[in-house]
Amino acid sequence: MVNFTDISLVHVSVRGVVQGVGFRPFVYQLATGLNLRGWVQNTSEDVKIEVEGEAAIIEKFLTGLRRKAPPLAHIEDIAVTAGTPANYTKFEIRPSLAEAGKYQLVSPDIATCQDCLHEIFDPFDRRYRYAFTNCTNCGPRFTIIADIPYDRPNTTMRQFTMCPDCREEYENPLDRRFHAQPNACPVCGPQLELVDAKGKPVGEDNLIRETAILLRESKIVAVKGLGGFLLACDATDQSAVKLLRRRKHRPAKPLAVMVASLPEAKKHCEVSEAEAKLLTSPGSPIVLMRRRTESSVANAIAPGLKYVGLMLPYTPLHHLLLRETGRPLVMTSGNLSEEPIARDNDEALRRLGGIADFFLRHNRDIYARYDDSVMIVEQDIPRFVRRARGYAPYPVKLPFQSQPVLGCGAEEKNTFCLPRDNYAFVSQHIGDMENAETLEHFVNTIALYKKLFRIEPRILAHDLHPEYLPTKYAKELAEKENLKLVPVQHHHAHIAACLAENGTAGPVIGVALDGTGYGTDGHIWGGEFLVADYKKFTRAAHLEYLPLAGGALAIKKPYRAALGYLLALGIKPDKKLPLWKYVKDGELEIIRDQVEKNVNAPLTSSMGRLFDVAAALAGIRGLIQYEAQAAIDLEMAADDAATESGVYPFAYEDKDGVNIIKIGVLLEAIIKDLKKRTPKAFIAARFHNTVAQMILETCQKISTQTGLKEAALSGGVFQNRLLFRKSVTLLESAGFKVYTHRQVPCNDGGISLGQVAIANFAEI
Ligand code: ZN
Ligand code: ZN
Ligand code: FE
Repeated sequence: MVNFTDISLVHVSVRGVVQGVGFRPFVYQLATGLNLRGWVQNTSEDVKIEVEGEAAIIEKFLTGLRRKAPPLAHIEDIAVTAGTPANYTKFEIRPSLAEAGKYQLVSPDIATCQDCLHEIFDPFDRRYRYAFTNCTNCGPRFTIIADIPYDRPNTTMRQFTMCPDCREEYENPLDRRFHAQPNACPVCGPQLELVDAKGKPVGEDNLIRETAILLRESKIVAVKGLGGFLLACDATDQSAVKLLRRRKHRPAKPLAVMVASLPEAKKHCEVSEAEAKLLTSPGSPIVLMRRRTESSVANAIAPGLKYVGLMLPYTPLHHLLLRETGRPLVMTSGNLSEEPIARDNDEALRRLGGIADFFLRHNRDIYARYDDSVMIVEQDIPRFVRRARGYAPYPVKLPFQSQPVLGCGAEEKNTFCLPRDNYAFVSQHIGDMENAETLEHFVNTIALYKKLFRIEPRILAHDLHPEYLPTKYAKELAEKENLKLVPVQHHHAHIAACLAENGTAGPVIGVALDGTGYGTDGHIWGGEFLVADYKKFTRAAHLEYLPLAGGALAIKKPYRAALGYLLALGIKPDKKLPLWKYVKDGELEIIRDQVEKNVNAPLTSSMGRLFDVAAALAGIRGLIQYEAQAAIDLEMAADDAATESGVYPFAYEDKDGVNIIKIGVLLEAIIKDLKKRTPKAFIAARFHNTVAQMILETCQKISTQTGLKEAALSGGVFQNRLLFRKSVTLLESAGFKVYTHRQVPCNDGGISLGQVAIANFAEI
């Protein structure tokens, strides 16, 4: 007989990603296994538990709660308080409780788990070849959720009524599909449909086999995935890839490839252990890896590049399709150049009808548009190039409690950031804000995040650039709803983002290197060394101002930027320079005019432009087809020869206490190398060495002036892996503590996080 005095009861509140990940069944099994009584319940802010039993057993339960939690759960906090025993007779799972104003973390979408994979390929399983198989450990989450708590009626699965078999799994706490909200089977769940570009159904059964045949016949098929449609074609078929590029208006930017398995990935790329781990992780991102020369993937996938972006199948549909096709498939966002990814069936037909020959679609609606995440591994650490599916909206933990701010982000690679408490909800990649569709996606996604996380921003942080669409959005909204505005300088935001995700407050030497950012003096900044914390920054050093002859045109045509730089620096552009192959009759005169008369020649201190200029000057690339292509080619040219090729000179000038980095001697030295017929690989390598050395020496100068020994690296230029590696190594061996990005991209995708951090410390 139990002595009543031995019985105690505790209330437990578990916070984190604990819903939609099999947490309640786990609690149920843990409690019943220990013969404890009570209940567990999902609420809008946490998972609440009451357990009653012997104190020592309750201790065991609490230890198990931490140690044995399901793989996809992210426990942030477990709060335990003592209560009065209530004489429970059993342990039960109580219905979810929705509470006004409360919020919780929502799981990102999760790649198909091993158990589900076995079922899909098991001819005796009732889900054999079923494309929408999922369980509590895998499947769609954020892309189908319209509100919290995460229960079926709040998802786009609400239109499907579970059959008795599915219902039984769903209600059995011992089943892998207990309360798996998207649970479905061929009897009751979503179904595939294959249609042509006019929307006319083709094929009747075995649509996956039909699709595989089409793909093997060089057709382009739009495949509806988790966060939108992806465009697929045979990645080994050069002409199919080229056709896709033509139709998508994407002449050269690399395309992602999906391969069936990890061993398959290793046939195409050199896959390190860390890369293998990342590829097979629940987030299942595209990982940019070094391509093997023997790879059968068409050259048109990533022309001229040493890296190729691979991902593994992350839905049952992908697994089935990849296995059936037996070839690697291009899987690129279903959009026309820079528009957002197409989501709905009708929308896809309308927008992708001119690109895809066929559409493999289904009747499970997508709520949130999501692109695939893109990552690299540098120094054994996974880093984001684009953060979306599988990661957002998992928050970045802030080193402070945030005010209700909306960080509106930058113009390109836009994300926004909505914080609550010490969580910064950085949105998925929204895109380049240059068209109405992307703006609409931005506005709708802000509305979704506000609703899901119950956030009502009172302060709007925006970029200084008056022409950025997110800036205009912030100003209009502030006026309409009487909200406060905090303008944030672009490079200050870069550095603040790096500080925030590293949980530190600064001040640091912030090295912010990118292509374009509006400066406080109205010039275009981008080669910036700041002394910064969240509150303020001073510009301690920067690349000298030079005219960008022709403005935007010089970005598309780096040889024009190069000629402008040479003329402004008083270096005569010798006609023997390889650069001349790009120059047309009369162009030099136009550029000279622009530079001398200061017409359409905005001043810039951009590091991105300096890379362009070096690439053009060396004859490596004078015209670009996608952003940063010249800098990327310069990195590709350098790579293998990089180790021992020396550095070019550069100089400093003190201007009212600011260190101006002069690059005339650098460009002259490149020209000298060109005249000596030094191989391009050496010139490119030497240039990278020089920029790394410039970063080191400038940081050392600022360190001497300020005593700071910590540096934060941010800005899109650090996507250059060679430069990133060299800079970190040099700085660390000189004794600097170096902060780098790992939770948000170093490019403008991280700006919104920095804006939020700065707005929290701004005097308003
Ligand atoms: Zn599963
Ligand atoms: Zn069913
Ligand atoms: Fe930037």
